Amino acid sequence: MISPSALVGGQQPKLLGVSPNVNSPAKTASPFQLDTTTNTPAATPAPAKLQADTVVGALASIAQVLTLLATKTTGTPLINANAAGSGPALLTNGGVPSTFNTTTDPSQKTRLDGTLAKVANDPEGSVLLQKAIAKGYTIEVGDPNAAGVAQADLDEEADAGGQVNGLTLPDKKKIIINPNAPDFDKTVVHELVHAASDGDGNSQQEEGFADVIGFRVYNRIDGVAPPGSEQSIFNAKIQSYPNLQATNGILDTLAQLGLKGFSA
Ligand SMILES: [Zn+2]
Repeated sequence: MISPSALVGGQQPKLLGVSPNVNSPAKTASPFQLDTTTNTPAATPAPAKLQADTVVGALASIAQVLTLLATKTTGTPLINANAAGSGPALLTNGGVPSTFNTTTDPSQKTRLDGTLAKVANDPEGSVLLQKAIAKGYTIEVGDPNAAGVAQADLDEEADAGGQVNGLTLPDKKKIIINPNAPDFDKTVVHELVHAASDGDGNSQQEEGFADVIGFRVYNRIDGVAPPGSEQSIFNAKIQSYPNLQATNGILDTLAQLGLKGFSA
């Protein structure tokens, strides 16, 4: 079991256990006071000019683009728009650096590349993806149980069938996606929310909104209807994490990225 106090410090693994009964109607109202107002965009800055002769340059450019993205709430697939700018082509897979996906199995690597290309073309997915990349994360399809995480932590986060579908390791800046995750693309987005988080460790609120945004993007990129309202998704998810702290500032992180906790 992960004790709430052990989560302070931001070094705890963040694990996704998708409950198969996520469709069940929520029975408990959210204890959180949620700000659902839209951010007021700042004046639109000039387009970023990419100068990406080196990997360092590419990352600096991504960080620059990310700063610009922080003022946007909706829009076109920005990662592609920038990749299409002048200069040498440095980004592949729909705008994702080829070094981001470190999956070793060829077929699974191709599968994940396909997911990342779709996420990169989604307004909210693109923002999350770019933040994870800017923070130095990598992602792979693999076995979460082989990640060196304590069994007790895996047990804590496993779904009702005992399976851990995704895992984000802030200390290693690594995301691992279980190839058998039932909602593979949604799981990728869920973990990207964890990777993008600047909050203190994990929280019920972060888990809830990771699923809310995960299903929201999943619906857009794959046409899969969400299992219920965003509030019901949130409520169902946080019930799986009774031992996490209630919040860790994830809404601030989302707001800074121009993302909404709950859609209007
Ligand atoms: Zn999670």
